[in-house]
Amino acid sequence: KNLKKPLRIPPWLRIKLPRDATFAGTRDLLKDLELNTVCQSAKCPNCWECFGNKVATFLIMGNVCTRNCAFCNITPGITEPLSATEPDRVAEAARRLELKHVVITSVTRDDLPDGGAAHFAATIEAVRRVQPGCSVEVLIPDFLGDRDALKTVLDAKPDILNHNLETTHELYDAVRPQADYRQSLDVLVNSKQIDPSIPTKSGIMVGLGENDSQVLRVLDDLAAVNCDIVTIGQYMQPSRQHPPVQRYVPPPSFDEYAAAGNAKGIPHMFSAPLVRSSYNAEQFVKR
Ligand code: SF4
Ligand code: SF4
Repeated sequence: KNLKKPLRIPPWLRIKLPRDATFAGTRDLLKDLELNTVCQSAKCPNCWECFGNKVATFLIMGNVCTRNCAFCNITPGITEPLSATEPDRVAEAARRLELKHVVITSVTRDDLPDGGAAHFAATIEAVRRVQPGCSVEVLIPDFLGDRDALKTVLDAKPDILNHNLETTHELYDAVRPQADYRQSLDVLVNSKQIDPSIPTKSGIMVGLGENDSQVLRVLDDLAAVNCDIVTIGQYMQPSRQHPPVQRYVPPPSFDEYAAAGNAKGIPHMFSAPLVRSSYNAEQFVKR
């Protein structure tokens, strides 16, 4: 339990979630289709803006994870069997919400032989079938480094392949103990090797205890694996049981990360306090 008094939330992070009719309608529809979105479950501050822009992030394969990352609000534990109807339900939500861009992400399912890769592929294909103009980004787990699983996802031709490093190399043991920094970078390397036509994307949160030079080293590593899109946003403590925010990075520092990433050769940097992995995602997709 964290007894340390939390840092005060600075003004640039204070946003009220609107509760208007569009928001309620979207929420009801998702409930009706028994779908989880990260937008709602993470209480994402960009929810209103993204739903308004016809963008949403679906969390597939349940809401229980086989891993237990310190910063994450998802419950660890025993997972449920996959739902065979879920790909179609996601596609139906994309159709009813008239989405232009869908982000599909999941809990990590180390209990499944392919880590859920075929389920990802089926969901991409279902969205393509039912909402043809909608671009699809997948935010995938590391599949324990399984290249075949990654290929299964890439063969379904997502518009963007996203795998987050989440934090700097130095903090992996503390906040992402069941993952491996190099293995995560290799997801991006392998993706480029298997299908170089699909843009890769990754991201980190800051404020978990890293310093600026460690952030810059992550950017070196992402540039070295030819990552096309990088997001950097402020970590927010989901509850008092999660690690406290170590620092609120001021907006000018986010601009410096973006400039540094560009200078190192990363073409698209999205770095600001409220940037989330799936924020503004759709603008990269060639239509
Ligand atoms: Fe959903 Fe991502 Fe937008 Fe947040 S930033 S509302 S999680 S699509
Ligand atoms: Fe959360 Fe992903 Fe870690 Fe699971 S693997 S606890 S979903 S961040």
